[in-house]
Amino acid sequence: MNDTNLKEQPALDAEYDVIVIGAGPAGSTVGALLAEQGRKTLVVDRATFPRFHVGESLIPETYWPLKRLGLIDQLKQTAFPKKFSVQFVTDEGVETMPFYFNEYKEHESSQTWQVLRAEFDQMLVNNARTQGAIVHTGTQVLDILTEGEQVTGVKLKFSSQETRDIRAKIVVDSSGQTGFIASRFKLKMTDPVLKKGTVWAHFKNAQRDTGIDEGATLILQTEGKRSWFWYIPLPDNVVSIGCTGDMEYMFAKDRGNSEEIFYQEVERCIGIKRRLTAAQPVTEFMTTKDFSYHTSQPVGPGWMLAGDALGFIDPVYSSGVFLALKSGELIADAINAAFEAQDFSVSQLSQWYPDYRSGVENFRKLVYAFYTPGFSFGTFLREYPQFKTNLVDILIGDVFKPEVAEMFTVMQEEIPELAMSADPQIALKK
Ligand SMILES: Cc1cc2nc3c(=O)[nH]c(=O)nc-3n(C[C@H](O)[C@H](O)[C@H](O)COP(=O)(O)OP(=O)(O)OC[C@H]3O[C@@H](n4cnc5c(N)ncnc54)[C@H](O)[C@@H]3O)c2cc1C
Repeated sequence: MNDTNLKEQPALDAEYDVIVIGAGPAGSTVGALLAEQGRKTLVVDRATFPRFHVGESLIPETYWPLKRLGLIDQLKQTAFPKKFSVQFVTDEGVETMPFYFNEYKEHESSQTWQVLRAEFDQMLVNNARTQGAIVHTGTQVLDILTEGEQVTGVKLKFSSQETRDIRAKIVVDSSGQTGFIASRFKLKMTDPVLKKGTVWAHFKNAQRDTGIDEGATLILQTEGKRSWFWYIPLPDNVVSIGCTGDMEYMFAKDRGNSEEIFYQEVERCIGIKRRLTAAQPVTEFMTTKDFSYHTSQPVGPGWMLAGDALGFIDPVYSSGVFLALKSGELIADAINAAFEAQDFSVSQLSQWYPDYRSGVENFRKLVYAFYTPGFSFGTFLREYPQFKTNLVDILIGDVFKPEVAEMFTVMQEEIPELAMSADPQIALKK
């Protein structure tokens, strides 16, 4: 079912166990898993679904939250290209050996998908409804209701322009980069190293690889590593292509409009230029910037942050949707445990966070290494071949086991930024 076919939105009660702001991958996961456990859950999104969203490449570990949500069979029925690998192309145009995920894990989870987010997110929203969550789309959260420090609900604005206050024991903010609660409580901390900007579009008739490589993600560096391109094959002969680099470089005053910037970078990247020879853009050229941040506090009295609202690192390793699903799953479990124990204290609700944050740090460090001038993964792995498994574990998303971080103890001798924690709570723990 498509939300635009909904005849009317369900009537709302004055109070819920949980209100979830945003019905993207994080919010729909929280909604589905809470409703499944019988919690009275309201999920609201200001957009009407299906809605366009950047972020089309999944990584293999998304399999597990998607399996728990019961969506693997539905995904198998879609036309989404199957992704078996990721391949890096150097700034000199050398196409390195792809990392085939099943060489490291012989399990069907090693194959993942390149998704159209409009369809994928609608699937997640439908699932939240099927599990019993009340999902209101086209409904915006205008404000948070508070009593002292305690968050007690939200003020909603419906498409009719009417507004209404609804209360809940817990409000989960999964409003994506909007970061509703983080902005309101001034919790957003921009990344000290990553200040990036991106321009992207969808293309038809770009050159596609065949066979097992047909659905692969390509990461192609431009000359001098000033920027890099993602190349994500989608259904119907469409490919998503985006270019990311330092914000100041990408959007320097003299560079022209977003399309001009895009094609200037194409000229500096042999691998993309070749693939785009017969291609035409089928969307406008879109831009986004300064998207790397985290939050100083993940949980407070009556509120929790999930997905991008909790933090976002960078597009390069496609970690965003995975972390949205994973944090959604962990938060739903924490809330269910809180209801069972009738303990809604911040300490009870935040037990999942330290391990989660340590896993996120592994992605962050790998991203820092990617952007470090002069650092080469090829050279590093030739010197320390024992760390190849660590590297692939992170590319797959298997980041929540302590041994994954071993590689960084050696790598940080070359890249001092790796030693600093992006998170004050992690720094305190150490
Ligand atoms: C350039 C770029 C490329 C990326 N590429 C990838 C990729 O290839 N693979 C990948 O996994 N990730 C990628 N990502 C990240 C990915 O897009 C996000 O991590 C993911 O969408 C996060 O899901 P979410 O549910 O947290 O938030 P979202 O998917 O953003 O959902 C948030 C929802 O909240 C709603 N909302 C916001 N404010 C309000 C409000 N006030 N009231 C009600 N509703 C509200 C919005 O309408 C939206 O539907 C990329 C990100 C960027 C910036």
